[in-house]
Amino acid sequence: KLIVFEGVEGCGKTSQMQLCSNWLKSLGISVILTREPGGTELGSHLRSLLLESENKPVAEVTELLLYAADRAQHVEQELKPSLAAGKYILCDRYTDSTIAYQGYGRGLNFKLIHQLNDIATTGLESDLTIWLDIDVEVGLSRKRKDEAKLDRIEQETIAFHQRVQQGYAELAASNPSRIVRVNGSLNKETVHQMIQDILRVHLKGLL
Ligand code: C5P
Ligand code: MG
Repeated sequence: KLIVFEGVEGCGKTSQMQLCSNWLKSLGISVILTREPGGTELGSHLRSLLLESENKPVAEVTELLLYAADRAQHVEQELKPSLAAGKYILCDRYTDSTIAYQGYGRGLNFKLIHQLNDIATTGLESDLTIWLDIDVEVGLSRKRKDEAKLDRIEQETIAFHQRVQQGYAELAASNPSRIVRVNGSLNKETVHQMIQDILRVHLKGLL
């Protein structure tokens, strides 16, 4: 099963994925944690090119293509083999991030983004996507408290992050069976319990 965690900066994906992984492992389920960009060795190079703010700006279409390249490698090298081995994959960001950030955020052509997502994934969709919904400014201030070093993306305007947020809201509204919204502003343990409940319902019989 491919379970994806999505949301704006500081929404809590990393800590919720860790809690979720510990919980699934305690049930005897074999789990892998991975992320985009950066889930493979090639991807970790692409991640630094994309996110380190000391690098020169990357043109918008170049950025889109690098995310697609990262995803293509991740799907082939990591996601498909892990699924074939019957593992549960918890993945930090996937195709919806590209729609939200490069589509809604940067305003790149949606048709082009969908085509690139199709090429990169060869049609592999998440079984379930958890959208951790948090107010953009709350998320950014949380993240700044945790991580001293700013990603390049955090230097974007609030308006950019609001468009990304709007993207997630529209994606969730149009994919109600795949994307489930969780209120990410609640405390960590409450959010984790909500995610457990969602997984129990969606993966009925498997857990
Ligand atoms: O916190 P996280 O590991 O998800 O950070 C990844 C960074 O990459 C974030 O700053 C996010 O905004 C950015 N990103 C992006 N476009 C994507 C995926 C991630 O700008 N398609
Ligand atoms: Mg994170």
